[in-house]
Parts: sequence; C-alpha cells; structure tokens
Amino acid sequence: MIVQQTYEIKEELDFLKRTRVEFAEALQFVSSQVRSVDSARLTRILEHPFRQSIVRFPLLMDDGSIESFIGFRVQHSRLCEPTKGGIRYAPDVDLDLVTALAFDMTLKCRVVDIPFGGAKGGVCCDPKKMSRAELDRLTRRYAYEIMHVIGPDSDVPAPDVGTGEREMGIIYDTYRMLNPRCTCASAVVTGKPLNLGGSPGRDQATAQGGIYVLEEAVKRKHVTNLTSLKDATVIVQGFGNAGYNAAKILNDEYGCKIVGISDSKGGIYSQDGLDPNKVLDHKSKTSIERSVVGYRGLQGLGPKQFLTKQCDILIPAAKETQITGEISKDIRASVILDLANGPTTNLAHSILFGKGIHVIPDILANAGGVTVSYFEWLQNRAGENWELSMVKEKLRKKMSNAYTNVVDTAAEYNLDLRKAAFVFAISKSLDILIGRGVFP
Ligand code: NAD
Repeated sequence: MIVQQTYEIKEELDFLKRTRVEFAEALQFVSSQVRSVDSARLTRILEHPFRQSIVRFPLLMDDGSIESFIGFRVQHSRLCEPTKGGIRYAPDVDLDLVTALAFDMTLKCRVVDIPFGGAKGGVCCDPKKMSRAELDRLTRRYAYEIMHVIGPDSDVPAPDVGTGEREMGIIYDTYRMLNPRCTCASAVVTGKPLNLGGSPGRDQATAQGGIYVLEEAVKRKHVTNLTSLKDATVIVQGFGNAGYNAAKILNDEYGCKIVGISDSKGGIYSQDGLDPNKVLDHKSKTSIERSVVGYRGLQGLGPKQFLTKQCDILIPAAKETQITGEISKDIRASVILDLANGPTTNLAHSILFGKGIHVIPDILANAGGVTVSYFEWLQNRAGENWELSMVKEKLRKKMSNAYTNVVDTAAEYNLDLRKAAFVFAISKSLDILIGRGVFP
C-alpha cells in the first residue's frame, strides 16, 4: 500500500525545465537515500543530451514557391545504443521540446528495461495545412538531412505527433537508397507499414501498453473506488494514435464507457457514452473542421471544463503541460493514465497524489510504444515476423514488470509513482554507467 505524501512544489510549466527539475530532485533523492553517488557530477553526465542536430532545408511547395523549414534530432543518452525516439511534426516543435522528449525517452527505456538510449526528432511545420505530396517531400528531405546520425545500430526513429507509418516508410526508403549495402536497413526506423517490416500491434502499442498497466493497477486494488474496468467511465484527451486506440480498446474489449473525447478543437462529453468508432467516423466526415466536436450535436468544451468532468479514468493523450496545478484541484477521476508525454505538471502531480488519485506517469504509462518498437527492431534484425498474440503477450509482461518495479520503489521509499519511476530509472542508469566505465 502506498502512503500518501505531498511536497512543497513550485509549478514548472516549461517541459524541459520541468524534466530537469524532476530529474535533479530524483537524483538528489537517490544519492541521499538509495546509494552513495556524486550527484553533481552525475547530473552533468546524465542530464544533457550527447548530440543535438539542427537542420534547415528548403521545400518545394505545391504552388511552386519554396519554403524554408527547421528540423531537429536530439540524441540524449548513449549509455545504451541505438538511441530511440519518435519524430514529431507540429508548429510548436523546437530544440527545447525535442530535447525534453529525448530525455523522457532515456528514462522510459530504463523503466521498461529496453536496451536503448533516448532520442527524439521533429520538424516545425503544420501538417494540417500541408498537402500529402508536400509532407512526403518534407519527410524525404528531413530524412536525408539527419541521415548521418541515424541507423539501425546508432539511432532509430519512430512515429510521434503528426507522423505515422507513411512517414516511417519514406524514411526507411531514403535510408535504403543511400545505404545500399546495409543488410538490415528496415531496422533504421520502427512503426513502418506491415509490408515494409512493421510489427503487428505497433499501431496500438502505446495505448495497449498503458491499458495493461491500468489493468494491473486495478487488479492490485491501487485505485480507490475502482474494482474492475468493466463499466468504468473514461475521459480521453486527444484523439490520435494514442487517444483513439485507448478509447477503442477500452470500449470494445474491456466494456468501459467512454464519456469524454477531445481533440485540438474541443471536447465532447456524454454520460450516456460515446462510441469511439462512430466518433472517428464523424471526425473523418467533417470535411473542414475534422473534429470530434459536433458529434450527435454535442458542443465543444474548453480544456478545464472537459478535464474536470466526472469519470473514473482520465487519459491525457494529446500533448505536454495539459493538467496544471489549477486544473488538478478540480479533477474528479480515480486514476490518471498519462499516455501523452509530460501532460501533468510537477505541481499537479503533487496535488493529485495528495487527493489520493492514482497517477500513472508517462515514462511508465506510454512505454508500450517504445517496447513494441523494440520488438519491431528485433524482428527486422532477425528476419522474423511475429504473430500479434506473441507481441501482445510480450508487451503485457514488460508492462506488468515495469509497473511492479515502479510500485515497489514507491512503496520502499514512500514516493508517488512519478518520482519512483525517476528514481528507478536513475538507479538503472547508474548501474550501466558504473558497469561500462568511462571511455577512454
Ligand atoms: P497524434 O498526432 O496521432 O494525435 C494527437 C491528438 O491530440 C490529435 O487528435 C489532436 O487533435 C489532439 N490534440 C492536440 N492538441 C490538443 C489539445 N490541446 N487538447 C486536446 N487534444 C489535442 O499523436 P499521438 O501519436 O497520439 O501522440 C499523442 C501523445 O502521446 C504525445 O504526447 C506523444 O508524444 C505521446 N506518445 C505517442 C506515442 C506513439 O506511439 N504515437 C508513443 C508514446 C507517447
């Protein structure tokens, strides 16, 4: 049983600064309570990325004009290689955001025990305002620009916000054409289409992995007022890869009632329940807005109104810094599954913990994505194709073990799950650092 404890906390809204603050606090905790380490020296080694690449490139637009774009690839830790992390296309992509996401990836890989380091990439662009042909050209040129820092043995990209299997297929093709002698070129990227070496289950992996952890938490009675997922009410923020698949799996396979769904245009809520399949159908048919808003005539709610509606399970699956201290005071869920990266601020975590809400942190909750990416990479290197049932069985085991490790750390040191996940990840990193020594 986890004992509740609150901290005096200054809210940090900047994702990178917040990750560094949380990391420094956890490292300090490790050095004072877990093992004797020189935390100042280790902060310098473990906190900063070992490589940050910035690329600028021109792109021919459909109307004949030429636009200039900026892209990034940040490789955070090479304690384990290759490094691994998604590629984001969004208007707010910048070096700090990509660095924070790469940092998170390093911690996530330790939590779920995947032998990768963390990385992340992205291009500052608005994919919603670009044509398919423009996005294809952008992907191929960005892949070319980062070609010298990626590879099956060095750094392996994957999908994130605004990218999917089409982009991964193009990155693979670009790498293949420029590296004709590489014998395992398909392992340069994960989240590919199945016919290019993608893994069954990769599309749903982030959501499915989070749901396995949620199942564990409910089964072990860690969630107040929730003894079963059947009939549990769910609110999902974000209706893309992570959010849509979470809503669909919980609705179709677990008998949950999805009462709230949102996207960037607003949120809809209905106590009668929303069928995610029909909401997706509505979203794809609304030709201009392409939003969940308006489904069955439901009006769009703003973030605070939406996130504080009554539910058992709240799933932020959109973007960082959504659940702030102010919003968390009014949240009424029993459990929060952080499927997005960095959705909950440090202050919000402490408030929610104080209220007895079980918050499953991002570096545990959404680690199913990198886990099945690892499975895809293994299949590509071995020339194998695994059955979906095997992928799911292995994923369940990884997620269940990771949950046990984080919960045990929380119980041993009387921590919330977020801090426990950081402490666990840092301890694992130290083991690797000490085992490897320092080159030369
Ligand atoms: P996506 O692009 O497929 O979907 C993002 C969704 O969020 C869209 O529906 C968009 O409309 C919505 N959205 C954006 N801003 C919003 C806002 N302010 N309020 C409500 N909805 C908003 O992206 P994704 O791949 O599903 O990623 C979502 C989150 O999950 C990100 O934080 C990402 O880093 C994280 N994540 C994704 C994966 C993966 O495998 N795709 C893995 C781990 C973590």
